Amino acid sequence: MLSDEECLKAIEIMGESFPNAHSSLVADTDFHFLLAVIMSAQTTDKAVNILSPKLFETYRTPYDLAEANVADVMTLIKTIGLYRNKAKYLVACAQKIVSDFNGIVPQSRKELMSLPGVGRKTADVVMAECFGIPAIAVDTHVTRVSKRLRMVAQDADVLKIERTLMKKLPESIWIAAHFRMIYWGRYQCMARSPKCESCPLLKMCAEGKRRVRES
Ligand code: SF4
Repeated sequence: MLSDEECLKAIEIMGESFPNAHSSLVADTDFHFLLAVIMSAQTTDKAVNILSPKLFETYRTPYDLAEANVADVMTLIKTIGLYRNKAKYLVACAQKIVSDFNGIVPQSRKELMSLPGVGRKTADVVMAECFGIPAIAVDTHVTRVSKRLRMVAQDADVLKIERTLMKKLPESIWIAAHFRMIYWGRYQCMARSPKCESCPLLKMCAEGKRRVRES
């Protein structure tokens, strides 16, 4: 298992390759960013970015979307996976923001997770991106990269990965670490063909060394 110092070093090295790692979802308000994150589950950010301008233009505020017909929302987002459920979540989420939070996206994890369609990962992403509240949202990339690098235990679940990373890394770097690990998972340490031989982290990566040895 990597030590705290080695974990920090790995995140710093990732930052050299991806100094501007950030969310690739495009949104003009906190509310629209929340909608984009809900829609991005099991879909690419690119697919969401293609449809979101029309959706956002049609429903500028939670009040607009709270009164929307779910079928109309489905039509606007039908190019992404699970669009039927997502359309229901988007409308229900807007209704709850209106009824419980005066039309303003709440900032705490607990309040965010009370919204339909919002799980821990979505809440963490919104907290970090919209409000600058330190959080490490654990998605498929963060899971894979942190396990391959032995930053966390191999059998760790999402919650344990989040807690371990938050314990090992200084709070000031949580948000950057989250985005760097996502970029690392997308472009360096991909699920099927990680680029181990050219990886700047190879020296500290047991999994990478094993893969290079066996290739
Ligand atoms: Fe991923 Fe390979 Fe780099 Fe390890 S050496 S972080 S497995 S790409």
